[in-house]
Amino acid sequence: MSENIFKDNILQGKVAFVTGGGTGITGGVARALAEAGAKLAITSRKIENLEAAAKIITDNGGECLPVVCDVRDYEAVEKAIAATVEKYGKIDIVVNGAAGNFLCKANELSTNGFGTVVDIDTKGTFNVCRAAFEELKKSRGQILNISATLHYLATPMQIHVSAAKAGVDAITRNLSVEWGRYGIRVNGIAPGPIEDTEGMKRLLLPELKDKLVKRIPVGRFGRIKDIENSALFLCSDAASYINGVTLVVDGGQWLLGTSLG
Ligand code: NAP
Repeated sequence: MSENIFKDNILQGKVAFVTGGGTGITGGVARALAEAGAKLAITSRKIENLEAAAKIITDNGGECLPVVCDVRDYEAVEKAIAATVEKYGKIDIVVNGAAGNFLCKANELSTNGFGTVVDIDTKGTFNVCRAAFEELKKSRGQILNISATLHYLATPMQIHVSAAKAGVDAITRNLSVEWGRYGIRVNGIAPGPIEDTEGMKRLLLPELKDKLVKRIPVGRFGRIKDIENSALFLCSDAASYINGVTLVVDGGQWLLGTSLG
């Protein structure tokens, strides 16, 4: 895949607030937005994740504000949004990537475990959208929610994430309708299994990996770069009439019903 598919600086002048922007897929999305010219605020719980990611962005000539914030804590989210506006004057793009995950059979999963993932992925996504609304209304900005395909069919050992991401997709659709009138576009990306992530390394048992890749129509696992490119497209003016869509980026994997469990 070529390094630079898009025209230079397609997001020049934009400010992006990215949750879960210190690591993995959403870390890649944050870097890609910065390389396209956006100024960044990245947020998650661990300052070490954020500082390392912010350093890569600033070493590369970008601007990046690391803000510690647990998306489950609405007051902390409001403060993180306020810190971003104080530094950059506005917010144009919100990316919700913060998420929790682990493998667990439904009959062994504690109700707390289930609730924690829903709190981070679903409620956290709503918290951030809600806290950013006034800024996005001013900027006629947009939201990009990172979802998954786990809930399209059924994924054993992933009932908590499946339920949480189904909720995220509902948020994407509802807000696209309610907030479209303010010029705010709300979309999502549903990645398939992305191999260069810690999550995949942790979740995908090696013996399942070979079996699964043979059942992905395009013949390979996804890469963080695949999600970066889709995010850049959806955040750019090329997608200015796209609203309420969760773009599946999985090489056609879910259509074959291949499960990680
Ligand atoms: P990851 O690196 O573990 O990303 C999760 C991020 O969320 C981390 O940066 C983590 O940082 C942050 N986070 C966790 N709890 C938080 C909280 N309470 N408040 C704020 N931030 C929190 O995993 P990833 O695999 O790249 O996943 C990124 C996104 O893609 C997720 O939404 C995931 O569901 C989705 N996805 C991934 C795959 C895949 O194949 N990997 C497939 C489909 C969808 P801290 O620990 O510093 O808080």
